[in-house]
Amino acid sequence: MMALPLISPNICNLEPQGFYIHIPFCRRKCFYCDFAITTGKTELQEHYVEVLCQEIALIAKESFPYTAALKTIFFGGGTPSLLKPCQIDEILQTINRYWAIANNAEISIEINPGTVTVESVKAYRSLGINRISIGAQAFQDQLLDLCGRGHSVTEIYEAVAATKQAGLDNFSLDLISGLPTQTLSQWQESLSQAIALEPKHIAVYDLTIEPSTAFNKRYRAGVNPLPNDESTVEMYLMARDRLQGAGYNHYEISNYALPNYQSRHNLIYWHNQPFYGAGMGATSYINQYRIDRPQKMREYLAMVEAWTQGNSPINPPQISDREALFDTLMQGLRLAQGISFEHLINRFGSASIQETIPQLEAYSPHWVTISPTHLYLTQPEGWLFSDEVIGSLFTYFFDCPHPI
Ligand code: SF4
Repeated sequence: MMALPLISPNICNLEPQGFYIHIPFCRRKCFYCDFAITTGKTELQEHYVEVLCQEIALIAKESFPYTAALKTIFFGGGTPSLLKPCQIDEILQTINRYWAIANNAEISIEINPGTVTVESVKAYRSLGINRISIGAQAFQDQLLDLCGRGHSVTEIYEAVAATKQAGLDNFSLDLISGLPTQTLSQWQESLSQAIALEPKHIAVYDLTIEPSTAFNKRYRAGVNPLPNDESTVEMYLMARDRLQGAGYNHYEISNYALPNYQSRHNLIYWHNQPFYGAGMGATSYINQYRIDRPQKMREYLAMVEAWTQGNSPINPPQISDREALFDTLMQGLRLAQGISFEHLINRFGSASIQETIPQLEAYSPHWVTISPTHLYLTQPEGWLFSDEVIGSLFTYFFDCPHPI
C-alpha cells in the first residue's frame, strides 16, 4: 500500500491553516442525522482519543514541510462535549506538539444542550477554546422530541447560561427550518428566542431529508407534515428579515454573524482552502487531495492501526485543477462577498474567468451579479436558487447533470 499522498508543494503552495477534529459520540441519533457518529459507546471514548492522537501524529509526519501556524481548530461531531475536558486537552496538546497554534487562533467546539456545565465550559476556556457552537435547532419541546433531539428547550437555556457564566460570550446557535409539522409562527418564535439569547453567530439550516435517516422512512419533501416549498422559502426570508433586523450580517447562505464574528474555520471551506482533518468520518483537503476517513468506528480504528505500521489504506486521486476550480466557484458562491476575479486569476489563471463568466451570464442580474471585481449570487433570489446555478455550472464543467 502507498503512503498518504499529502505533499507536493510544487503543485499547490497553499498551506493548511485549519484543523477539523471529529468526535463521533452522541447519546442517541437524531432522526434527521446522517453524520458519522456512534451512540452509547462511552467505554470507547478513551481508546478513540488515543487513536485520534496517533492519527494526528501521522498527519504531522506526512505533512512535513507544511508548518504554518494553525489559525483555526474545530472540534465537531457528533457531540464533542461528551468527552471530558482532559481528553480535549490531550488532543490539543498533541496538535500543539507538531504545529504552532496562532495566538489569536479561533478554537471552536460543538456542544449539545444537556452536556455542559459552567465548570466544563470554564475548563474549555482554560484550554484555549474561545468559541462554542450550540445545537439548539428549535425552541419548542414538541419539535425537539419529534426530531429525536434528546434535550429540552430548558436545557438550551441552561447551556447558554453556563456558556455566559463561564465568561465565553462568543457562541453560535444552530437552528433548523422546514421541520415536520413546523409552522411559520413556531419558526418566528425560534428566531426571536435565539436572538434574545444574544449569540454572536446564528446558523440556519433548511432541513434536508437524507436517505439513511429515520426521517426518510417517515417523511417526503413537500408531503404533509413537511412544510411545502412555499413555506420553506417564507421561513428562509423570515430568518433573513428578523436576523438582519437584529444586526446580524447574512454573510453566507445559511449563516449570520454580528460584525467580526464570522466562523473563521468555516470560511476556510467556503474559500476552498486546504485544511487538516482527523477522526472517524473526517475529511481533509491538502495539496488538492480530498481524503475521507471511514465512517464506521471499526474501519477507522483499523485504518489508523494500518497507518501506524506504515500502510496507509488511503490513496485517493488528486483533484484536478478543473475540479478545484468548480469547487472554488461552488463554495465561494455561498458567500455574500462571492469570489474575487483576482483570487481566481491567481489560483487558476485568467482562462478560468473567460470560461466561467459566459456560463453565468444567463443568470445575470437576477440570480448572479457580475461586478467589475467579483462574482456573487444576487440576494436573496440567487441564494434561493443556488442549486440551479451550481447545478448548471456542474453540468458545464463535467458534462453531466449535478447529482444534487
Ligand atoms: S446531536 Fe448532531 S451529530 Fe449527534 S445525532 Fe444529533 S444531529 Fe447527529
